[in-house]
Amino acid sequence: MARIGFIGLGRMGLPMARNAAKAGHAVRAYDITTAYHQAATEAGIVPCNRVDDAIADCEFAITMVPTGRQVHEVYLGDEGVLAKLPAGALVIDSSTINISEARALHDAGRTRGLAVLDAPVSGGVMGAEAGTLTFMVGGDAADLERARPVLEGMGHRIFHAGAAGSGQIAKICNNMMAACGMIVTAEAFALAKRFGMPAETLREIVSVSTGSCFSMTNYPPVPGLLPNVPSSREYTNGFAAALMLKDLRLAEQAGLDAGLPLPLGQAAAALFGMFCSAGHGQLDYSAIIKMLEGN
Ligand code: NAD
Repeated sequence: MARIGFIGLGRMGLPMARNAAKAGHAVRAYDITTAYHQAATEAGIVPCNRVDDAIADCEFAITMVPTGRQVHEVYLGDEGVLAKLPAGALVIDSSTINISEARALHDAGRTRGLAVLDAPVSGGVMGAEAGTLTFMVGGDAADLERARPVLEGMGHRIFHAGAAGSGQIAKICNNMMAACGMIVTAEAFALAKRFGMPAETLREIVSVSTGSCFSMTNYPPVPGLLPNVPSSREYTNGFAAALMLKDLRLAEQAGLDAGLPLPLGQAAAALFGMFCSAGHGQLDYSAIIKMLEGN
């Protein structure tokens, strides 16, 4: 059993913390809002009004906040969590953030003698609730082994992606591919429909042909093809288009930093930017099909 200080109890963080508590760990939690307090208490988590109370005496500090800005707010500076963690505590940041911001956090930890892992996740809110997330971990392999029992309470697949920042590299590449795959799948469904082909027919054929991809087989943007996907529940309770846009912008930034053109990634960012500007940012990202179909 480990002592965990969990920071950021939103759509992902609350179910992750809940599963960590269910796995037998002692979880103390902090968020800038108190909306999670009742649900946390019911799950055996101790909600704290100050971040210092959540991390006092912890062996693992876990963050699940929106962006690198909040990650740095939480950890850095004289009043930040890095300055206050007990010696030997391991930092696990599971937020999806910029690669260079993740590396800066590793560096800041190192200067204080604290180990850091960047450990973004895939699997969405459903995976967080079911405890079946995939963790992509950057940092020291030995530190990952130390964290593994904690991560196993929240996820099924835990990959060591490489050195500091590598978890974010894998995550950003994955989401850029997922976005591009979704857009082209939606275009294919829209095109086939214009020529009178039912979506079922296209899916059946393409799923076993060279165009097959996750969006076609497991996450179709057309409602009614699969029961348990966001498109079949009005595009709710999935991975918000606004978050996909955020991740595409992280990919764009990474491409700029690396001097590498990412033409499809940038096109996907532009399309999701238009979709979110039209007020659909809270819909699941598969809802982009509405815009591509002209609806
Ligand atoms: P969310 O907005 O639901 O939750 C974030 C929480 O962080 C909020 O409760 C907020 O109050 C809290 N917070 C913000 N600043 C804080 C601070 N300084 N101190 C303490 N708490 C603070 O977001 P989410 O959907 O849980 O996503 C969190 C991260 O996980 C993001 O980086 C996102 O990209 C990533 N992610 C999300 C999903 C998903 O499906 N939602 C899937 C994979 C990865």
